[in-house]
Amino acid sequence: MTDTPGARGTARSAPAHPHPPTAGQPTVLTGATVVLPTETVHNGQLVIDGTRIGHTAPENAHFIDVTGHYVVPGFVDLHNHGGGGASFTSGSVDDVLKGIHSHREHGTTTLLASTVTGDMDFLTRRAGLLSELAEQGEIAGIHFEGPFISPCRKGAHAEELLRDPHPADVRELLDAARGQAKMLTLATELPGGLDSVRLLAERGVIAAIGHTDATYEQTLSAIDAGATVATHLFNAMPPLGHRSPGPIAALLEDDRITVELVNDGTHLHPAALQLAFHHAGADRVAFITDAMDAAGFGDGRYWLGTLEVEVADGVARLASDGTIAGSTLTLDRAFKRAVTVDGLSVEDTVRALSATPARLLGMSDRIGSLEPGRDADLVLLDADFDLKGVMRRGEWVVGPQLG
Ligand SMILES: [Zn+2]
Repeated sequence: MTDTPGARGTARSAPAHPHPPTAGQPTVLTGATVVLPTETVHNGQLVIDGTRIGHTAPENAHFIDVTGHYVVPGFVDLHNHGGGGASFTSGSVDDVLKGIHSHREHGTTTLLASTVTGDMDFLTRRAGLLSELAEQGEIAGIHFEGPFISPCRKGAHAEELLRDPHPADVRELLDAARGQAKMLTLATELPGGLDSVRLLAERGVIAAIGHTDATYEQTLSAIDAGATVATHLFNAMPPLGHRSPGPIAALLEDDRITVELVNDGTHLHPAALQLAFHHAGADRVAFITDAMDAAGFGDGRYWLGTLEVEVADGVARLASDGTIAGSTLTLDRAFKRAVTVDGLSVEDTVRALSATPARLLGMSDRIGSLEPGRDADLVLLDADFDLKGVMRRGEWVVGPQLG
């Protein structure tokens, strides 16, 4: 047997264990391809001890042979409006939980619940409801998308409810979230934008540049003021131009920025995704879903905030004018697409789906990798990158479905 930590080595073969584990019994996954931050271990093992990744396999462990499967860290979604037929912006607590669980079944073990534009009263009440779920550990926090965004780049946000980012209003939302606001997307070129970025940075909240009509130079000023994320790069911002490079060039070239990408095959041409990925690198890319209610649910009519959305063939569009209105993506599909369509390595895909967003949230000591001591949040994928198991904090949410 091996006494090396975590996933290393598999000197012992897995004995057959026909019985389910007893309560508190450690679990050991054997025969796996385990993707660690610095190496990928073939025919490796991973020890799960209680809610955490363990160091060594104890004699009394429950062994599960997962030969032929990848074990990767649970996915971290920074930008997610709902799923499973439920909305994080308008649903009840039970609805929100339903949406969270729907995404967990697709490998997302950590997510920020994203709101869409509403009036200030509505959003502060919403912040109260979502902050309770954050305090209970169901979500990692709140991402406010809107109302401080540009009418020129509003996407699927209600124009009549948009407003300039006055720091007093930003502060009101943060206060209503009781310390659980983790990110706020704003158009930093609007009046009050740079002061709001500084306020967010002071309060330890990620200032995300998005739904913006900023120039290249205005974008650089926002980065200097403390913005660190590009909300769904390319979408809802001016395109890259050779005389007016706009926000995209500024966001891609600056090491202080992590760019969100929606890898669903609809939001971005594969060449645009690859351009961003190869320019920024996996440590500066976070794959997100930007999912709405229909994710993991199905086609039909939905509401995104106050706007009606028609979902057909898995593509969500505003019923009024056909504008893309979020996605129906789940991160397991984003993983498979990244490797099989975009040609990214498994290791880079893991970083963009887990390690990079975990680091942005300041949670790298707990999630985002399979190192000993981290939360036992993991996803089991077969050789075709189809999801066969999800574990969150040591408990199987899905599977494992083997053989
Ligand atoms: Zn958006």
